[in-house]
Amino acid sequence: MKIVILDGHGLNPGDLSWEGFNKLGELKIYDRTPNDKIIERIGDAEYIITNKTPITAETMDKTKVKYIGVLATGYNVIDIEAAKERGIVVTNVPAYSTASVAQMVFGHILEICQQVGLHDSAVKAGEWENSADFCFWKKPLIELDGKVMGIIGYGRIGQAVSKVAQAFGMKVIAYSPRRKSELEDKNMRYVELEELLQASDIISLHCPLFESTKNIINKETIAKMKKSAIIINTSRGPLINEQDLAEALNSGRIYAAGVDVVSVEPIRADNPLLKAKNIYITPHIAWAPREARVRLMNIAVENLKNFLEGKPTNVVSK
Ligand code: NAD
Repeated sequence: MKIVILDGHGLNPGDLSWEGFNKLGELKIYDRTPNDKIIERIGDAEYIITNKTPITAETMDKTKVKYIGVLATGYNVIDIEAAKERGIVVTNVPAYSTASVAQMVFGHILEICQQVGLHDSAVKAGEWENSADFCFWKKPLIELDGKVMGIIGYGRIGQAVSKVAQAFGMKVIAYSPRRKSELEDKNMRYVELEELLQASDIISLHCPLFESTKNIINKETIAKMKKSAIIINTSRGPLINEQDLAEALNSGRIYAAGVDVVSVEPIRADNPLLKAKNIYITPHIAWAPREARVRLMNIAVENLKNFLEGKPTNVVSK
């Protein structure tokens, strides 16, 4: 039984083991696969594992693939309708990185509000030695206690972010089309999007990318925000109209932004966010702490094992 991993490097750059997959069949691992090599590399394998390598209807028709295991939560790289029509089972890995992503949200927030990196560099460049006073700061320092955290998309990650925000003394408001009233208490209440935009000091995006959420942050929604607002996006790049965000940052219409995702990844040299003021950009790494990747690997192996044993799990092609 042949298993082909088309782009293993993202999940396992060398610090994890492929042993789990190895035990299930004859395994071939590629670090990366260019689009024009996908069909050739799959060959006659029936089980394929992909992270971001796209699997189209054509690839399905020109190979014998029966099972596609996606090494991620999002499975938009697969033509899922084509898989359904052909009876090909596609699985994903949900919820392995909830804590890591929530942590990255606060990585960005604390960088913006505390500026550890900036001050560390300044001290090492001699600015403290040469300071007339016992301390100095180069950018406004912002206390989170009492501020309002607006969370768009109150699912797993949104709720994890809410817990940390409340630990910092923040009040949480959330916008989600499906409300679970049992999640509301004195520190968290659901509001309409309009109120969230107006009342939040920090807005963090945690809704999936759908046609309806694409560009949810744009010129019009930004116009409703406080001038001191901070936007954090660890969800998906296209949730933000990047030109509009860059203009808002450059004109001081909002204060700052932190993003782990952009509309086209890897980021393009002409992405307007690269030159925008007061923005912090990380290269889609919220999911990547080793602990989360170990979890991802284990669930992905279980998914294939369960499929082979006739009781598939995390199937997204139903
Ligand atoms: P989830 O499914 O648990 O939560 C998503 C929430 O968004 C749900 O509560 C849903 O009701 C809500 N929602 C749906 N449509 C909405 C809309 N129109 N407006 C507002 N809310 C809406 O998903 P999750 O595990 O919390 O993940 C959230 C997102 O995080 C994923 O879609 C993924 O894109 C992203 N993610 C990013 C990384 C990373 O490394 N940066 C890692 C994992 C996940």
